[in-house]
Amino acid sequence: LKSKAKKLAQQASAPQQAAVLGAGIMGGGIAFQSAWKGVPVLMKDISEKALTLGMSEAGKLLNKQLERGKIDGLQLATILSTIQPTLSFSGFERADIVVEAVVENPQVKAQVLAQTEAQVGENTILASNTSTIPISLLARSLKRPENFCGMHFFNPVHRMPLVEVIRGEKTSEATLAKVVAWASKMGKTPIVVNDCPGFFVNRVLFPYFAAFSLLLRDGADFRQIDKVMEKQFGWPMGPATLLDVVGIDTAHHAQRVMADGFPARMRKEGRDAIDVLFEAQRFGQKNQRGFYAWE
Ligand code: NAD
Repeated sequence: LKSKAKKLAQQASAPQQAAVLGAGIMGGGIAFQSAWKGVPVLMKDISEKALTLGMSEAGKLLNKQLERGKIDGLQLATILSTIQPTLSFSGFERADIVVEAVVENPQVKAQVLAQTEAQVGENTILASNTSTIPISLLARSLKRPENFCGMHFFNPVHRMPLVEVIRGEKTSEATLAKVVAWASKMGKTPIVVNDCPGFFVNRVLFPYFAAFSLLLRDGADFRQIDKVMEKQFGWPMGPATLLDVVGIDTAHHAQRVMADGFPARMRKEGRDAIDVLFEAQRFGQKNQRGFYAWE
């Protein structure tokens, strides 16, 4: 996975101009990371409020770097000015690469991607940050599916090293090479994976969550499991904390996708802790209530 990515990275140069669709948690994070590593980026949303929030989050991250003495005030302003918030497609004709990070809805994504393809140059690469929608399915909305692949970042983008670069049925090697080059330029570790439910990471993560849920069903205490995994085993966080950080609603949705994709391995009997929390609208850190109460 990683060696394939390394070879591909040598075949392409990083983009001169990038663009992101969506200024939310992921789009805002990707725009920040691109600017931080020196690739100017257009950040498009349909909501002015989302753009303001995306810019303020980028400002906060840069202020932290300022406090740590990594950059000075002038550098902060310069980097921030390379993120260009916009409600229109103006400037997209100059983009070498566009990553889509709008809501996780196949119809919306297909429409946004087709609309974007009509605004960019013939050689512009399009990528989707989808967590669960097959890349080959989204590619059907495009005239140039060879220029399209998945580019799956993890939350929070500025801290998580891995990026899954997903090869759709029609994705070209040149497209993979360009996306791998951008991910590398962003300081990330890209891996190239085939298109399947859960790609790579969620195929590892969801069986782990399923094992955790079975332990709870057997009477285990989630706090104790977290404590063992964190303190004794040494992982940064245990499964209950991780689910709260990922979002119970997100996990609930992904769990269904995995069960549909791998019925023999991933279909569960009855309700589990994720279902119970989801039905109680305890979505985790994002609404301050999940396994834990968050401030
Ligand atoms: P979010 O709700 O924080 O942000 C989505 C943004 O897209 C919103 O600001 C919304 O206004 C904007 N938007 C909607 N329609 C648009 C359009 N037509 N054009 C431009 N912008 C539009 O969502 P998020 O958590 O950032 O997730 C975005 C994508 O990233 C989803 O596909 C999600 O599955 C994926 N993802 C999320 C995470 C995560 O942990 N949040 C991790 C990996 C991947």
